[in-house]
Amino acid sequence: MTSAASLLSEIFGFDGFRPGQEEIVQAVTQGENVLAIMPTGGGKSLCFQLPALLRPGVTVVISPLIALMRDQVRALQEAGVTAGALTSGNTEEETQAVFDALERGALKLLYMAPERLAAGSALGLLRRINVGMIAVDEAHCVSQWGHDFRPDYLRIGELRRALDVPLAAFTATADAETRAEITQKLFDGAAPRSFLHGFDRPNIHLAFAAKDGPRKQILDFAAARPGQSGIVYCGTRAKTEGIARALQEAGQKALHYHGGMEAEDRRRAEQRFQQEDGLIVVATVAFGMGVDKPDIRWVAHADLPKSIEAYYQEIGRAGRDGAPAETLTLFGADDIRLRRAQIDEGLAPPERRAADHARLNALLGLAEALHCRRKSLLGYFGETQITCGRCDLCDTPADVFDGTLAVRKALSAILRTDERFGAGHLIDILRGTQTPKVMQRAHDKLPTFGVGKEYSRSQWQAVFRQMMGHDLVRPDPERHGALRMTDAALPILRDQATIDLRRDSIQAASARHPAVKSMVNDEDAPLLSALKAKRRALAEAAKVPAYIIFTDRTLIEMAEKRPQSLDEMAHIGGVGAKKLNSFGDAFLSVIIGEAEAMHPSRRKLAGKEAGDIYDQLLAAQSALARGAHGTDKPLSCSASVLAKVAQLRSPDAPTLERLLGEKRSERFGPAFLDVLRRAG
Ligand code: ADP
Ligand code: ZN
Repeated sequence: MTSAASLLSEIFGFDGFRPGQEEIVQAVTQGENVLAIMPTGGGKSLCFQLPALLRPGVTVVISPLIALMRDQVRALQEAGVTAGALTSGNTEEETQAVFDALERGALKLLYMAPERLAAGSALGLLRRINVGMIAVDEAHCVSQWGHDFRPDYLRIGELRRALDVPLAAFTATADAETRAEITQKLFDGAAPRSFLHGFDRPNIHLAFAAKDGPRKQILDFAAARPGQSGIVYCGTRAKTEGIARALQEAGQKALHYHGGMEAEDRRRAEQRFQQEDGLIVVATVAFGMGVDKPDIRWVAHADLPKSIEAYYQEIGRAGRDGAPAETLTLFGADDIRLRRAQIDEGLAPPERRAADHARLNALLGLAEALHCRRKSLLGYFGETQITCGRCDLCDTPADVFDGTLAVRKALSAILRTDERFGAGHLIDILRGTQTPKVMQRAHDKLPTFGVGKEYSRSQWQAVFRQMMGHDLVRPDPERHGALRMTDAALPILRDQATIDLRRDSIQAASARHPAVKSMVNDEDAPLLSALKAKRRALAEAAKVPAYIIFTDRTLIEMAEKRPQSLDEMAHIGGVGAKKLNSFGDAFLSVIIGEAEAMHPSRRKLAGKEAGDIYDQLLAAQSALARGAHGTDKPLSCSASVLAKVAQLRSPDAPTLERLLGEKRSERFGPAFLDVLRRAG
């Protein structure tokens, strides 16, 4: 009998389930009605694709995005699964091929755009083909109040009733109202089995920086990640073009994308991004919904996003393959002013505006956070059990000082000038600068005049920005740029509360040139680029995106583990039976070719005594690769570990075990010790 676990490795090439997947797969396979809420990149598609293979009949998948459907179908076919899509983007032949496969009863998954359900013929077709289950991707599109509402989604409930089959709904949007609406519209109010899975994306590194020459900050960030696919989000269309040009001039492969472009140009940009390796797209938030590229290695915000939800969604596009990904979000006082103004000038009713300010505040709190960003981000989504170590503040704790006095001085300047001025003029007062505006209004006579000389202008700007970030002051929507104190500031003014501020964002960030970040250690880097080159060649020949062949994560694992045979290759995550068959040899020869061309770890030892020892260790290892009797599972050590062993000064069993780990030291330890003792 085929089990979920064996299909997981044979077809999809994964060693194990991601958190939450197994329970969902089980429930869906058993034919329960399911609502699963998982963050983007959590691996939702597997939760219906795998059950589709285990259940009789055809699984109908409703998904709103044609590009995503086509991509998933291609990936499934590549893995040896018969899948097809009926969308408006099909060619005649594609549609015919789907019908033929249905006719033969060969199709396991049929992807359909919701618009298809509107056609009268759809139900007739679906009744004939033995549908076993319905899977609904992006199920929140059924919510009339959400921004992704798709009227055709309302037909899905009807379809479920007509076919009388189980339905599994998936979304990344978790709020309670949307969940209730999904239950109502898709399940006729009968609560499905629900799975709410965590929001943490542990492979994504979080970082914020105050703007300080923002264009250069973005260019440096991109320059440190050569050849990696990334997205730069900008607040305005004009800026996307400017930054894209600057990146191109700096020698990067970059293009811009925004809602003002012709539909055709946008489609072409999306397609290039999807298809090409190492391309940077500089875009407004219009870019994203249609993008499903698993190997986006970084996301940078040249401007502050509009809310904490938007931030989470945008950074969430990085690293869907699970390999490390990085983010950088820039923010400044102007961003805060702009975002506040957008809310205040919007047409939403007052309570909605208050909620929008609160969501912006949550993001500002994250931007000005003094401790782990992940705790602050996931805390907003209600999660408390968080281990991080993957954010800028865990890397380097913030340099904090008691800012109470500075804040009180600033508030006093605001109040004594009747909350009628912006930060620029207030800073002139605090620093005692006699500008014409100051003199004209006799502000040099205020008791506050010149009480803040201890800070430079830019340091005061950082104080004001942090005050805005903590929502102690807000720009007055009626009066351009003027700052008003909020109630949140009262306790500080009255000496009932203190406030910590960050010093490092006060000091000008040093213009240190960033080190190039690579995805693997130096020794494996050349092999990784050789593997990527092979992937690119295969992808171009097959006219598919590179990640359809293998994702970055899979190539990284190959570069690190260096499988030496097809058997070993089969154990790499992402290498299923079909892909092993199609591509295994091609990638294996890259790895073995590199090994023969002398591994860099070995090359470093060339001409030294340790080089000789290395070769003896290698020989001892290959004699024992399948154990003393030649019947065990193949095992080997990485070249860098062998190099370390070769250079051991005083070899003993415990040291070896620490270097090799338990399994390997059991197999190779005695033989290695032998080699080392003979040499020593
Ligand atoms: P989403 O939840 O956003 O729809 P996907 O289904 O597209 O996410 O999955 C995101 C990525 O995670 C894909 O590249 C997929 O191949 C990978 N993935 C899914 N399940 C696993 C797993 N069990 N092990 C390793 N990678 C997985
Ligand atoms: Zn952290």
